[in-house]
Amino acid sequence: MMVRTILKSKGIYTGSEFIEKGAIIVENNIVKEITNSPYIDKTKDDIKDFSNHFIIPLLCDYHLHFQSKKSFMETIHQLRSYGISTAFEGGDPDLSGIKAKKEGVVNRFYVKTSGAALYKSGGYGGFLGRGVNNTNEAKIMIKKLYSLNVDYIKIVNSGIFLPESNTITDGGFKADELSEMIGFCNHLGLDVYCHANGERAIREAVLAGAKAIIHGFFPSQATISLISDRGVIFIPTLYALKSLKTIYKTQKARDNLSKAEETHMETIRRSIELKVKVLPGSDSGPFFIPYGKACQEEAVLLRQLGMTIDDLVKSSKINQISQGNEAAFLLFNGSTFTGPEINKDEMQNV
Ligand SMILES: [Zn+2]
Repeated sequence: MMVRTILKSKGIYTGSEFIEKGAIIVENNIVKEITNSPYIDKTKDDIKDFSNHFIIPLLCDYHLHFQSKKSFMETIHQLRSYGISTAFEGGDPDLSGIKAKKEGVVNRFYVKTSGAALYKSGGYGGFLGRGVNNTNEAKIMIKKLYSLNVDYIKIVNSGIFLPESNTITDGGFKADELSEMIGFCNHLGLDVYCHANGERAIREAVLAGAKAIIHGFFPSQATISLISDRGVIFIPTLYALKSLKTIYKTQKARDNLSKAEETHMETIRRSIELKVKVLPGSDSGPFFIPYGKACQEEAVLLRQLGMTIDDLVKSSKINQISQGNEAAFLLFNGSTFTGPEINKDEMQNV
């Protein structure tokens, strides 16, 4: 006899609609029906009452890095255990994203890979990919990544924030170089996501045609408006910025970090007000930014800064809840996520 599981809820965000007090009927780990008025057979059905929670689809982490030293399966399992089923990978020197993508496919974990990020030789980016000296070298690398079937190109257009000195380290390309590289990628049908910090690097990346800005620390009000006008995606990695406090211990660094967090939160608030498409990305990979947990935390932070549950759910559009799809969901009580529900154990046999 087939056991039906019925999940009751405060409401279901499927990714395309909201069903108040909806219920999901599951058989064999597959969604059979989404309804407001389920037929329940109390003698046979397994009823899970989540009336205090919204049921939402599994999330997408829009920015993380795989580590070649750690088993990709282990990483994917950890992400799944936090209800993440899709990840945009931002590059490393060993092309880990391309390998992880292959392992993910067989386990219904979806990796969008950049392979290796391109950075200006001599500047920041050694941990993220391959250095290039000029646009000719960049084009050779882009063609190579294209031939490896990457999903998008990641370009490092600035350094990183250094809390001790309150500065951004050297890195990135000249405006005309960046425009030429992005034009070349777009010609091949590839979008470009730019790591960019600081007003100049962010503004130039937007003007050069970047599809998304990753991190985006410290843009001017005018540049936030430009991001909005151009429809550029913003992946602010706020939780990653906050996590720097676990490795920077001096009072000076911590004071600078607190100020940087405040400024960045204001940037995110303003972006959400201006209807910028803000997406959760964890920047997981470093030991102090745990896979899965960091993405959930980022989503909660973005909610606190004004992002609606609806926008959050729509951002994980790849994982819609619909009839015939895999039965794996997150529970959300308005401030924290739990789950995933149902397909909890499926990865443990791998
Ligand atoms: Zn990153």
